[in-house]
Amino acid sequence: MSTKRILVTGGAGFLGSHICERLVKAGHDVICLDNLFTSQKSNISHLLDAANFEFIRHDVTHPITLEVDQIYNMACPASPVHYQYNPIKTMKVSVMGAINMLGMAKRTGARILQASTSEVYGDPTAEHHPQTEAYRGNVNPIGIRACYDEGKRAAETLFFDYHRSNGVDIRVVRIFNTYGPRMHPYDGRVVTNFIVQALKGEDLTLYGDGSQTRSFCYCDDLVDVIMAHMNNEPESGDPADAFVGPVNIGNPGEFTIKQLAEQIIELTGSSSKLTYLPLPNDDPLQRKPDISLAKQELDWEPKVPLAEGLAKTIEFFRSVDLDSFRKPTD
Ligand code: NAD
Ligand code: UDP
Repeated sequence: MSTKRILVTGGAGFLGSHICERLVKAGHDVICLDNLFTSQKSNISHLLDAANFEFIRHDVTHPITLEVDQIYNMACPASPVHYQYNPIKTMKVSVMGAINMLGMAKRTGARILQASTSEVYGDPTAEHHPQTEAYRGNVNPIGIRACYDEGKRAAETLFFDYHRSNGVDIRVVRIFNTYGPRMHPYDGRVVTNFIVQALKGEDLTLYGDGSQTRSFCYCDDLVDVIMAHMNNEPESGDPADAFVGPVNIGNPGEFTIKQLAEQIIELTGSSSKLTYLPLPNDDPLQRKPDISLAKQELDWEPKVPLAEGLAKTIEFFRSVDLDSFRKPTD
């Protein structure tokens, strides 16, 4: 394998830091670019002394000039609490961040991968369950999730237009709910909320009646397929023949939020109880990926069962000082 210069935007975040770690271990020259809005340097502190790792504090909505061979475009607040905190900024991060990084890819000839999301499907209707890549989605364009959903949809549009118009070598993944060590303990996402609540002996907060579903993928499985997609080469050797996506990636195991809460109480051995709060607007009732395309094109499927992944995540949250984390929304 040849050594590459690789940029990871959002590289200090939950998923970005796992990608940086793998790339550094593989011997690549890695540039981690992040403004630390929803993350902290502790996610990458173990990499800072590596000769092949560099951290740049920078906001992707502003242009930057770097010479690279590959770009993982991961920068964007990802949890509803974080992306709704400053919705206009969220839209700018997706759209202007994509334009800046696609411009860099066009100038340098780098291959660029976009971290898109299952949220491009919005609140999927019953006949589109599980969701395939062909589904055009059911997004409320003026709702409180739109800054993220529509921002990510616009970013996909930009990726495909740069690909068609300028020959930029793109890869696009649509990520479904993913969890694991290095999630921000106060990001408001369901896995972190429930684990932190269970560890503190507080009631677990179920929004609505807890019957809405999600499918949860462990981070190691997800990073495997993100890197496989980045590095997938067309058989013909002609970049025009490459499989670029978009491709769903996630774990198709589907659970109600109440089942998740019960499982976390059991795994932590907590005495916490369940409490019910109102369901936020536009909260999707069900979500589950159809991953046939990822299996066919990338020869991938997730391996880590929910109980095993949750146990590793609980271990992480037990090992960190929860009070040392800055809440981005404070
Ligand atoms: P995260 O919040 O941990 O990571 C996002 C990173 O982007 C953070 O380090 C943050 O500081 C950085 N960032 C935010 N705004 C920035 C800006 N303007 N300039 C530079 N850096 C900025 O979230 P994550 O779960 O690791 O998500 C990573 C990517 O994957 C995001 O693009 C997200 O939309 C996508 N995604 C994640 C999931 C999931 O379940 N984890 C699901 C779908 C899509
Ligand atoms: N949720 C919940 N309690 C919480 C946090 C989230 O019941 O403390 C629900 C939320 O309403 C949603 C699901 O869990 O139905 C997943 O929420 P999350 O914010 O993790 O991600 P989403 O998939 O909605 O983007």
